[in-house]
Amino acid sequence: MDGHESLIYRLNEHDQICFVGEGWARFAEENDAPGLADEKVLNLSLWDFINDLETAHLYREIVRRAREGRRVGFRFRCDSPARRRLLRMEVTAHEGGGVQFETVTLRAEQRPYQPLLDVLVPRTKELLRVCSWCKKFDVGGGTWEEVEVAVARLGLFEREGLPRLTHGMCRPCHLSISERLSAIRSGDGRAPQE
Ligand SMILES: [Zn+2]
Repeated sequence: MDGHESLIYRLNEHDQICFVGEGWARFAEENDAPGLADEKVLNLSLWDFINDLETAHLYREIVRRAREGRRVGFRFRCDSPARRRLLRMEVTAHEGGGVQFETVTLRAEQRPYQPLLDVLVPRTKELLRVCSWCKKFDVGGGTWEEVEVAVARLGLFEREGLPRLTHGMCRPCHLSISERLSAIRSGDGRAPQE
């Protein structure tokens, strides 16, 4: 997913994944989700993949706007243990009540390997929240930090095991996506660009 490759997937009218474009398998693998290879995701509901309530709520709004004929675009981070990636997603209506998601990588850069993002690393029972959209970690007191800062701030190097990750949404991301959606609702059919 370097450069400006794009990746497409689509939902049918029942929100089940009915198409994944070329590059999906590699995308899943690079994101340490090899279990998400093509044939395994087809026919599953999008909602099976989104556990965080706030994120699910916003995604439902995004999907609804798209079905109404709006084009919804937003940026999000999709990091792997050794890469930071900034992606842009565009969500549009597709034939037969379907919805298309197209992601384009805007930027990708190497970074030192981060075990906290590696699904293969064993975990303790402790939970740590990561924002589904910007991949910052909840370090407490309403503050969210990039993985490198969070690991140092939370003293994760000194601990016996790494916490399990749970998804959430930081306040700036919540505000930014909500504002975008309400602009589309009240608006003129034009998706605001960031
Ligand atoms: Zn965030």
